[in-house]
Amino acid sequence: MVDLKDKDYVAIVQCHIVKERCSGYNCERAFNKRLGGFSAYPGDKAYRTLYLTCGGCCGRAVQRKLSNLTRRIKKQEGIEKDRIVVQLASCLTKDNFHSSPCPHLDYLKSLIVKLGLDICEDSYIDEKSEKRRKAGLYSAGN
Ligand code: SF4
Ligand code: SF4
Repeated sequence: MVDLKDKDYVAIVQCHIVKERCSGYNCERAFNKRLGGFSAYPGDKAYRTLYLTCGGCCGRAVQRKLSNLTRRIKKQEGIEKDRIVVQLASCLTKDNFHSSPCPHLDYLKSLIVKLGLDICEDSYIDEKSEKRRKAGLYSAGN
């Protein structure tokens, strides 16, 4: 379990394909209001945030992007990896009306773990989609 009180910096990774037509506003709002996948973040703590995409299938660019972040942030501000958490947006982690979860999710996670960064899952959670997921309406064939 990641202790979010010990984190100062949140890198939110979103699906590159989905971001071709999504501004990411719902993710930003969910974080700002501590909703959905961000509900465990203390509301009274000010976090720094960075929104980035996986770079496209198969998501390999995540390693380069996050490695660039950890190097630069350490050099310029002395922020160590243990103060950073990577939050995988719901467009990677969940089934919804416009797409299935990322087929490379485990691979992406393995790249992030290899960098020594903690991972949390989910961001904006749409109520209607959550109901449909619970009812199994996104399973194969539906
Ligand atoms: S989770 Fe939703 S709002 Fe956030 S980037 Fe993905 S599609 Fe956009
Ligand atoms: S690797 Fe996954 S998250 Fe990245 S573009 Fe492909 S489907 Fe989206």
